[in-house]
Amino acid sequence: MFSPKETRSTCPYCGVGCGVIIQSSGNQITGVKGDPQHPANFGRLCSKGSTLHLTATAEVTLQTRLLQPLQRLQRGSTPEAVTWDSALHTATTKFAQVIRDHGPDAVGFYVSGQLLTEDYYAFNKLAKGLIGTNNIDTNSRLCMSSAVAGYKKTLGADSPPASYEDLGLASTLFIAGSNAAYAHPILFRRIEDAKAANPALKIVVVDVRRTDTAEAADLFLQIQPGTDVMLFNGMLHLMLWEGWTDAAYMAAHTEGFDALKALVRDCTPDAVAAVCGIRKAELMEATRLFAQSPATLSLYCMGLNQSSAGTAKNTALINLHLATGQIGKPGAGPFSLTGQPNAMGGREVGGLANLLSGHRDLANPAHRAEVASLWGVPAVPEKPGKTAIEMFQAAADGEIRALWIACTNPAQSLPDQATVRRALERAEFVVLQEAFATTATARYADLLLPATTWGEKEGTVTNSERRISRVRAAVAAPGPQDNGPRHDWAIAVDFAQRLESALGRTPALPTLFPYPTPESVWNEHRESTRGRDLDITGMSYAQLEATPLQWPMPEGAASGKVRLYEDGVFPTPTGRARFVAAPYTPVAEPREARYPFALTTGRLRDQWHGMSRTGTLGRLFGHVREPALHMHPQDMARRLLAEGDLVHITSKRGSILAPVQASTEVGLSQVFLPMHWGDEFLSGHSNTGERLGGVNALTSPVFCPDSKQPELKHAAVKVLKA
Ligand code: SF4
Repeated sequence: MFSPKETRSTCPYCGVGCGVIIQSSGNQITGVKGDPQHPANFGRLCSKGSTLHLTATAEVTLQTRLLQPLQRLQRGSTPEAVTWDSALHTATTKFAQVIRDHGPDAVGFYVSGQLLTEDYYAFNKLAKGLIGTNNIDTNSRLCMSSAVAGYKKTLGADSPPASYEDLGLASTLFIAGSNAAYAHPILFRRIEDAKAANPALKIVVVDVRRTDTAEAADLFLQIQPGTDVMLFNGMLHLMLWEGWTDAAYMAAHTEGFDALKALVRDCTPDAVAAVCGIRKAELMEATRLFAQSPATLSLYCMGLNQSSAGTAKNTALINLHLATGQIGKPGAGPFSLTGQPNAMGGREVGGLANLLSGHRDLANPAHRAEVASLWGVPAVPEKPGKTAIEMFQAAADGEIRALWIACTNPAQSLPDQATVRRALERAEFVVLQEAFATTATARYADLLLPATTWGEKEGTVTNSERRISRVRAAVAAPGPQDNGPRHDWAIAVDFAQRLESALGRTPALPTLFPYPTPESVWNEHRESTRGRDLDITGMSYAQLEATPLQWPMPEGAASGKVRLYEDGVFPTPTGRARFVAAPYTPVAEPREARYPFALTTGRLRDQWHGMSRTGTLGRLFGHVREPALHMHPQDMARRLLAEGDLVHITSKRGSILAPVQASTEVGLSQVFLPMHWGDEFLSGHSNTGERLGGVNALTSPVFCPDSKQPELKHAAVKVLKA
């Protein structure tokens, strides 16, 4: 008999970052409950978090987990078990050969916002410090890169200025492109609490769909897809016209307004109403509530970020905060919500193709020199790395020959699946480091390396409000004791140390990867933040054991900062925040006669990403049983479609089959499809006849020129009865 044990950790799903208490007995997780002391959730959990333990039963583990290293001797064959030593030897030999023959930029690493900060740090140093390529990007590119670019362009640093406690201090909540009720349920409970405690709180929601979040709004603006910039610029036009800007704040703390003022001159209420498809009275009311409220907090997410104008959408919204002084005070500020549990941690360690450790920029020679010095390497390469879409295009073109994919499923989640599948087939060598054996990407891997997952691994994550929480192991990994899953950071480190020898690094030199524990990795990351906007030199693992902490928290500080920019000083060369004059541009692929519907994609309440974890639980299908294309009843009637009819949904890239469902959540000429189901449920084909499926058979790889985040939220499609 084992005595029951409780281990405090963090939910692995979304960026709310709720604290959980894992209950276990022996080596079995038996239960989970919310951590009442965690400041993100105070004991609450949503349907996904509260069922985590059921995704870790022995039965589910057997059916879903990758339990030992596997190697495919031939593409398409059944992979065979190998030892860790053999697997890593093969990986090292292949990568070293490609690097020697074709240069360091012939390899690429595609990692994940699901990784812990320590994992991310090790991979980033491996690619940029050891191999000498910036070809490392992450699925956070699909999630948050527009928010990163937006913050940096306007405020000077990738630092969300507000905190969850501001929800209770705001007098207007301006929610744009976020269905928090589904995507961030515990945060939404806090919004409901704030409204209950203060009925005068006004909630304005901007979305193309009438979501559950929109249902909670005092004012809902159902805009046409991709027209957010026009709306925000129109709001600024009205603020100027009505005298609702804060001239004193602008004069003291901002710069660059003249160009923006000239730009918004033409964004008249008539023009905004016509482009956005809203009434002028709604525009006026939203503007008044934003500008005249004592404290306006805006919350935004994928509706702004996953767009070919993602950065412009972010900057146009932040412009409104700067113009009205709605920033740097309680209950106010532009607050981007992170989708994934550790997209923030990835940004902190610079785990993207254009970033370096400690929020440094690859394009900045001084930053490259600082990081090279920290790592003890001669230089960090200057050439920009390939971002997610570019990386898979480069692999499809034969430019990238070896791919290392960790903790993500690009064969389902990236747009334009036809290109992604071509890339995975054409790459000479594909390593997949994963906890789950069941993902679509696993079919393409030459080598499958089993990784530990939630409940088994140690490290840290950072949530949307800059709060770092500990992730703790409650049980040992399943699988053979000497050949089972390993921690992601440890796999990266073992591979890196082997590659050091294979690439001929002088044997007398100490390894660049001297890490016995995740804490030792984190300590190096901590040092890289010294003097930076996210300085965490005042934190330690020991302190995080006691309580999660927000950054910045420099050495000597007693606590982290709840709110940034309260002094009106911004981390720009002049200390002033910058207005950005970004004109409205339509979606990359407007509706047209052959593709008359605007498809948008999004989350369901009870599922997570590609469902490798949530899809194992029958009870999480109680909310929505199967994928369906949501279409307005009038559009269905016009096309003689009945509820449940199978339809072909076709874009310029591919076609899939799904049942249709009447929904007044979507506007006329718009359709919605959940993002979670892959090709085994939504079968289809590319426009050149290859079999593939899932919603991303349809979506477009066109990305924002600044953030390189693809427009996953919009594609033009036609819908025909099957
Ligand atoms: Fe987990 Fe997010 Fe739900 Fe919290 S809101 S329990 S972090 S999925």
